[in-house]
Amino acid sequence: MKHRCPICKKATDSEVHKDFPFCGERCRVLDLGAWASEKYVVSDPIFDEEELEVADPEDARRKPNDTIH
Ligand SMILES: [Zn+2]
Repeated sequence: MKHRCPICKKATDSEVHKDFPFCGERCRVLDLGAWASEKYVVSDPIFDEEELEVADPEDARRKPNDTIH
């Protein structure tokens, strides 16, 4: 069975690579690390959303003033 390594996109073969679908142990460990860091990323966007919500009302206020002008 052929597949692509999810980490480096290298072609992998289940008959050749024992870490299939990863090309090797390095990519398998990297994938575990990616999952672990994704858990941290999930809690981070809260800050991004707050920043966007704060920035939007300011733009909404400025634009009507400019168009009335
Ligand atoms: Zn790989």
